[in-house]
Amino acid sequence: MSEGSFRLPDEHLEKAKEIAARHRTRRSCRVCYERGWTGVAQDNTIVLCHKCVDAEKAFADWKEHVAAHEELRAEYAELFQEPEDGQPESQS
Ligand SMILES: [Zn+2]
Repeated sequence: MSEGSFRLPDEHLEKAKEIAARHRTRRSCRVCYERGWTGVAQDNTIVLCHKCVDAEKAFADWKEHVAAHEELRAEYAELFQEPEDGQPESQS
């Protein structure tokens, strides 16, 4: 078994596509043909269309989806990293 060979399960890939489509900001797009994504990466995650998708909102939705699924949370742990190592932000 090699490390770092995570592949997003297809059910979540479908969800990601849904999210991408939901956050499209224009009607027609020649980059993604109205899909909201332009390709699928090796880890089975989509490549958002840079032309018509509000990436920030799509990302927020994706983060929510990940948070709701234990198996994804471990893989996307970096999304949830917060400075909580006993070192509260100091505003000196
Ligand atoms: Zn597009």
